[in-house]
Amino acid sequence: MNNSYQTTRRGGGQATFRRQATSKRSPNRSFRGGGGNRFRGKKISHDKFINKNPSAPVEENYAPVHTFRDFGFDRQLTNNLVKKGYQIPTKIQDEAIPQILNGRDIVGLANTGSGKTAAFVLPIIQKLIKQKNRETVLVITPTRELAQQIQGEFKQFADRLRLYSVLCVGGLNIRQQIREIKREPQMIIGTPGRLKDLLQQGELNLRPTTTLVLDEADRMLDMGFLPDVKFIIGKLPAKRQSLCFSATMVPEISRLLADLLHEPVTISVRSLRTAEHIGQDVIRAQSKEEKLAKLTALLAQAHFTRVLVFAEMKFSVQRLADDLTKAGFPAVAIHGNKSQPQRSRALNAFKTGQVKILVATDVAARGLDIPAVSQVINFDQPNTYEEYIHRIGRTGRAGLSGQAYTFI
Ligand code: ADP
Ligand code: MG
Repeated sequence: MNNSYQTTRRGGGQATFRRQATSKRSPNRSFRGGGGNRFRGKKISHDKFINKNPSAPVEENYAPVHTFRDFGFDRQLTNNLVKKGYQIPTKIQDEAIPQILNGRDIVGLANTGSGKTAAFVLPIIQKLIKQKNRETVLVITPTRELAQQIQGEFKQFADRLRLYSVLCVGGLNIRQQIREIKREPQMIIGTPGRLKDLLQQGELNLRPTTTLVLDEADRMLDMGFLPDVKFIIGKLPAKRQSLCFSATMVPEISRLLADLLHEPVTISVRSLRTAEHIGQDVIRAQSKEEKLAKLTALLAQAHFTRVLVFAEMKFSVQRLADDLTKAGFPAVAIHGNKSQPQRSRALNAFKTGQVKILVATDVAARGLDIPAVSQVINFDQPNTYEEYIHRIGRTGRAGLSGQAYTFI
């Protein structure tokens, strides 16, 4: 029916998207997003994969305007922060937290590993503590693992505050999720497919949801996710606070955001080149055999202590993990063909250092905060420069340095 995506603004009835027919572009073209498939096949210039003089970690010389104390957080929340070892706010936290506490919609753009999660989780918890009505928060993420990770952070920061959360992601028992929803948790964290499913089954009610978070916002609004995300947002009240975060943004998605948000404040604390602090280089190889030989030669070096290897397809990921294991480099794999428990086991084995090589599809490219990943290796090149930024952003997090290699 409608041929335009436009969110009616807050106060103006429903917050559904309508597609906007622009004169210059066909409707299909207008909403191609930053992640996923946009440039499938398009070559990224190889010099973008090289950075031989990485800068000092971004936050190093940064003096925040606020201390955590200045935000006026509840005492228990402050205790939880201390327990977690947070002493001073990162740049994005410094700038975003006051705006969020003031009720503003925001677009928060900050480098990978710069603390975007706490930038929204902390003020959200503070608001939940203070609220009088039973209002809830919805966080949408592109992957199950990221949703899980955000729930983990929420639980730590909300410790002893009587705030509860539910994880609504695919691959896990939906009955269990429905039972948890019935206990009316304040925080709903999920991936689009399962959230939509729960809404369609009438098991999830988003009318009390007055805060929306899109983590990895540019990915959430790209073509792959947009239909489901639109459906979900259509179930939210028009009067709400919306918070969008990412390390990357492209103009097409910015335009979509403008329709979704109400007088947003854009906070961009990215350095010029997002991945400036990560050392980057290319590795040339002519054949699959040469690639594998060069990869194992790298992995044999002592300083390759926790290595994340990206390959393109589900089957190539599994095969590479198997080949490496056979060659004497035990590796686990994460991709869409594995069950969720298998995915969790693989990720845990990698996080805890039981296995030092994780081979993954782009399902692991965004958001995952794995401590001390020493190198990221792009065995297959990513499809977009944005995905490249996210992939290599798994290393060099929270003030550490990192190194990335890309096979060409
Ligand atoms: P992003 O979402 O920006 O990629 P994360 O929110 O995953 O980054 O945070 C990256 C890491 O930095 C996490 O391990 C997180 O616990 C840590 N971190 C975030 N903020 C602070 C802070 N203020 N002090 C210390 N560590 C922090
Ligand atoms: Mg993040």
